[in-house]
Amino acid sequence: MYDKKSLKAEEFINHEEVLRTLNWAEENKNNLELINEILDKARPTRVGRDTFCKGLSHEEASLLLACEDKGILEKIYDLAEEIKESFYGKRIVIFAPLYLSNYCVNGCIYCPYHNQNKHIPRKELTQEEVKAEVIALQDMGHKRLAIEAGEDPVNNPIEYILECIDTIYSIKHKNGAIRRVNVNIAATTVENYRKLKEAGIGTYILFQETYHKESYEKLHPTGPKHNYAYHTEAMDRAMEGGIDDVGLGVLFGLERYKYEFAALLMHAEHLEAVHGVGPHTISVPRVKKADDIDPTTFDNGIDDETFAKIVALTRIAVPYTGIIISTRETQAVREKLLKLGVSQVSGASRTSVGGYTEEERPTETEQFDVSDQRTLDEVVRWLMERDHIPSFCTACYREGRTGERFMSLCKTGQIQNCCQPNALITLKEFLMDYASEETKKIGEKFLQEELKKIQGVNEAVYKALINNLKEIENGKRDFRF
Ligand code: SAM
Repeated sequence: MYDKKSLKAEEFINHEEVLRTLNWAEENKNNLELINEILDKARPTRVGRDTFCKGLSHEEASLLLACEDKGILEKIYDLAEEIKESFYGKRIVIFAPLYLSNYCVNGCIYCPYHNQNKHIPRKELTQEEVKAEVIALQDMGHKRLAIEAGEDPVNNPIEYILECIDTIYSIKHKNGAIRRVNVNIAATTVENYRKLKEAGIGTYILFQETYHKESYEKLHPTGPKHNYAYHTEAMDRAMEGGIDDVGLGVLFGLERYKYEFAALLMHAEHLEAVHGVGPHTISVPRVKKADDIDPTTFDNGIDDETFAKIVALTRIAVPYTGIIISTRETQAVREKLLKLGVSQVSGASRTSVGGYTEEERPTETEQFDVSDQRTLDEVVRWLMERDHIPSFCTACYREGRTGERFMSLCKTGQIQNCCQPNALITLKEFLMDYASEETKKIGEKFLQEELKKIQGVNEAVYKALINNLKEIENGKRDFRF
């Protein structure tokens, strides 16, 4: 039976409830009156100086997804843009993945790291190699990483992951520093999540891949990841272990997108109901070509239009949850999705173990083909040219603004008062330390324009910010609001 407060996977992601939701959505998809009512309810409302958004239930969001009316689609896009603007402003947070090891005991049939793949070279970074990769990432200007590894209790046990996190945080090269390490490793025990928390991680990210249990078991035929309940209940264990920022995701293309979308929102509702805080982020990867993987063998690929609609509806349904888009997507797709609700992008990613220290992009151990292959400098410039503020900010997590505390600040729009200036501070650092001449020129002009917008609106913030920017020019680093 469906129970969002249950701790059992099959009760909070209840198959019958997903099917009931999809049937109801299909039956009502032409009820434009109801659909317009739902859209109205989801609009941001102002109470005094604060802005609130109610979000959407999995049923409401599924109904909007089912609706094929062109006028409604326009309204969905407009509302997603409005919500994005209200809660995130123009900021886009930038990060890079760091692949530690591709040893894996699982048999995931969409991933080239599956253990039946005997020709892919297996590699695990030594601590010296981690150091070299981190220096290469710092030299580009990165401040946030998402570490990635296959699941292999012998070759990459939790102790190895913890040692790598320690190494990453310890490296201070020139003005560089990795200030937030997010972790994307296989589902594990409460005890291990506690150790990750103690190691100072930011978000724990785990993609569900698919919420459809039967498909999940077929797609993960062997290895510990085969266990649907253990995987689906991982975020509850992570939260029990003290991690309060967790990141969900579905690998789109494996199962029918309407099923995944309803279930993903049910997962978010479950976390909110049980832990009082929803997911910190949602990632929306699509299956890509990789070593021995052909994405066309999966029947459920989605086109760019459907993908954009999913992102926009995610923005509307969970307004306080960050949305992450990776370099699996092309520049053009990323550009469209930024407006519709994406708040974080990866940049200059290399998805192979040890890829950042190679002169040429290595492809033989890549986890998937990277579509957006631009440098970080190009990504930063592109964002500014499209009127987004590139941000390397890590302040919330370092100031203890995580989990429930982050959400309640975010819900009242307060986070804007620190996020906008922090974004500008970290952009200034990037311009001073890593930008090309051209990016620096565009960036300084862009910064001045943004400063003008703060002046007169929030004089105290403006003055402090001007001070910080001057200090950065004088060689100091790491200011934050
Ligand atoms: N091994 C960890 C686990 O089992 O959750 C996570 C690390 S894995 C490097 C990160 C994610 O890459 C996976 O969760 C999966 O969604 C995604 N991935 C795997 N194969 C992919 C492919 N061919 N195309 C796009 N994404 C893929």
